[in-house]
Amino acid sequence: MSARTYEVRTYGCQMNVHDSERLAGLLEDAGYAPVGADGNPDVVVFNTCAVRENADNKLYGNLGHLRPAKLANPGMQIAVGGCLAQKDKQTIVDRAPWVDVVFGTHNIGSLPALLERARHNERAEVEILESLEVFPSTLPAKRDSAYSAWVSISVGCNNTCTFCIVPSLRGKERDRRPGEILAEVKALVDEGVSEVTLLGQNVNSYGVEFGDRFAFGKLLRACGEIDGLDRVRFTSPHPRDFTDDVIAAMAETPNVCHSLHMPLQSGSDRVLAAMRRSYRSKRYLGILERVREAMPDAAITTDIIVGFPGETEADFQATLDVVAASRFSGAFTFQYSKRPGTPAAVLDEQVPKQVVQERYERLVALQEDISWSLNKELVGRTVEVLVAAGEGRKDADTHRMSGRGRDGRLVHFTPGAAAVRPGDVVDVRITYAAPHHLVADGDVLAHRRTVAGDRHEAGIRPKTSGVTLGLPSFGKPATPAEPTGGCAVR
Ligand code: SF4
Repeated sequence: MSARTYEVRTYGCQMNVHDSERLAGLLEDAGYAPVGADGNPDVVVFNTCAVRENADNKLYGNLGHLRPAKLANPGMQIAVGGCLAQKDKQTIVDRAPWVDVVFGTHNIGSLPALLERARHNERAEVEILESLEVFPSTLPAKRDSAYSAWVSISVGCNNTCTFCIVPSLRGKERDRRPGEILAEVKALVDEGVSEVTLLGQNVNSYGVEFGDRFAFGKLLRACGEIDGLDRVRFTSPHPRDFTDDVIAAMAETPNVCHSLHMPLQSGSDRVLAAMRRSYRSKRYLGILERVREAMPDAAITTDIIVGFPGETEADFQATLDVVAASRFSGAFTFQYSKRPGTPAAVLDEQVPKQVVQERYERLVALQEDISWSLNKELVGRTVEVLVAAGEGRKDADTHRMSGRGRDGRLVHFTPGAAAVRPGDVVDVRITYAAPHHLVADGDVLAHRRTVAGDRHEAGIRPKTSGVTLGLPSFGKPATPAEPTGGCAVR
């Protein structure tokens, strides 16, 4: 009998992307196979997000689209997990009774058992835990990429930003021990991975649970000792907890990339206070100044919310001023919209939609100018690109390939006759700059074929077993006896 097949549909942030890798790993360990070319899986898992506007309408719309398939194939199962499931719980099966399983952010490891139970009992199984039982990284994960991997260092968040639903859905911060993190990174590198992104809602508070406020900088330095690891990134830092030792660790650890995604949210101190973001614009700009003193080539990106309740024209102008001074290479800009369950959703003084729209357009125009002028400075420079799959939507038409520079910029280049694969590394000279990407249409200046490229070409992806490894200390991790097995509010 052929294995039952599955498909995971992911919405939301990097945390969810990484959780979906774990869901895939769990299902495959339980005997399921990825859906084939016919696109008719036996199990569809929705890994949902509660941050986006209208997330629930979209989910119920998607569930509605699946209903005919489920009626035609009663053996098919539908599972809903992630932040929206954690928030809506039983409501999901009340509104969509053809759903078989609902599970939360704290018990993704239960999915195979819940599917089995629902099938056996012929009724919907809803299981939501209020706190984390096991750190998610102790679960198996089937990685999407042969060359680049997420590694969770913490889950949850101890902050209480008034626009954010994350703390109530992901719980308090739980830190993973450094030895376990480093063992996972080492295991991934042993499988050919050359880039890792350390993942936490607030990586700068990493260590709070085991009493070491300098733990994150030490972790970066320890990653620097792992042979074969070319690029280390992290997301997301927090201006409140960002300390100078992290800047020093970034500057002094050669494989840590000089790219920093530092959420600003607002340039107005009044609005920052209303958001309960406990830094002010002066501190924020001071951090950027020190980062650039230590790393003049640093590319800094940010998140900004326009139209937070009570935001005045003067507040918005303060945001424009900070954006102009910050010289971000890019920004994720959002129009504030109410998130049910957050403190800001019930604030008076919601800003009228047309005012938010008009401010948003001014902010985007300013940021585009800055991004473009910074990108133009790179024309004529040589950039090292880690070649990626799926980064260039027009690559097939333009006969280009795409990837990221060390600073995180998106580069589209012409491989010409070179047999370049995703996972390989090339040096190219920038010939053209746009606000959101760079183009290199000359010859490839250097091409390094990598193990990750070989494995990508062969269709092999790392699979981490999730076995807990390592000691709670820093230092180069011991090679595990056998191969071992994610503020991301976007
Ligand atoms: S915005 Fe980030 S720091 Fe603030 S509560 Fe949400 S996850 Fe935590």
